[in-house]
Amino acid sequence: MSIAGLHHVTVTSGPPAPNLAFYAEALGLRLVKRTVNFDDPGVYHLYFGDAAGNPGTIMTTFPFPNARAGQAGAGSTSAVAFSVPDPAARVDALERAGTAVARTERFGAPIWQFTDPDGLALELLEGPEGIAGVTLWLDDPEPTARLLVEVFGYTQGPEQQEAGGHRRRLALAGDAPGRFIDLWRADASSRSRGGAGTVHHIAFRARDRAHQDELAAALRARGEQVTERKDRQYFESIYFREPGGVLFEIATDPPGFAVDEPADALGRELKLPPWLEPHRTRIEAALPAL
Ligand code: ZN
Repeated sequence: MSIAGLHHVTVTSGPPAPNLAFYAEALGLRLVKRTVNFDDPGVYHLYFGDAAGNPGTIMTTFPFPNARAGQAGAGSTSAVAFSVPDPAARVDALERAGTAVARTERFGAPIWQFTDPDGLALELLEGPEGIAGVTLWLDDPEPTARLLVEVFGYTQGPEQQEAGGHRRRLALAGDAPGRFIDLWRADASSRSRGGAGTVHHIAFRARDRAHQDELAAALRARGEQVTERKDRQYFESIYFREPGGVLFEIATDPPGFAVDEPADALGRELKLPPWLEPHRTRIEAALPAL
């Protein structure tokens, strides 16, 4: 039943143009889908990833032109780590784009830390291209750790005391993207507040609907409140709020981003799901220029 890692991470962002420039140019991801928030079609939903938009490489943003700044804190995903084969080259590109990057070490390996234009904490480390993992900031990491181990198949990794708190790593075997979840318990608690520069939710991978159903059943058996399945056009999703307060999604690998445009043209045009297509003229008129 174990999962294969993270599918995507979705963040709330500020104005769309700097958001697109940062993720597509400075960070070097490909814009693989240009669509709208299906629950709020006045706002873009931009998907960034590797060239093919593979699960585990996807960072998605809801860029609100006038978003209030949010704040990471207990009950939120407080940092997102990307891995790339050549971090030095990527650090150069970030610095040339005006992003300040700091180098440090974690669990014996170098990592580079910086923020996106809205202040979201991002990290870079060496590895196959994709999302390496995330940090969850939790007042009590134990119930979340149990869920990740007992339902999702993560295993206990290293832990260390750091300035300001304690970090404990849960990891999946192998080098699949999204293989680690760090649980961060701060010495001084601070509540998170949604808004620009914060993670809205993280999504884990289900192989298919049957696998997603198995996971949903296991979660419901533990008393988790899991939503019904929602059609997200490029995957199908269920959602629940894990015991520490972070919104988790489980998304199916199929059908993927090539379902409504050719693989070599991903992200060029505004795509709408069939149920929003009749409103295209009105939706396009309301969206800011990109
Ligand atoms: Zn999602």
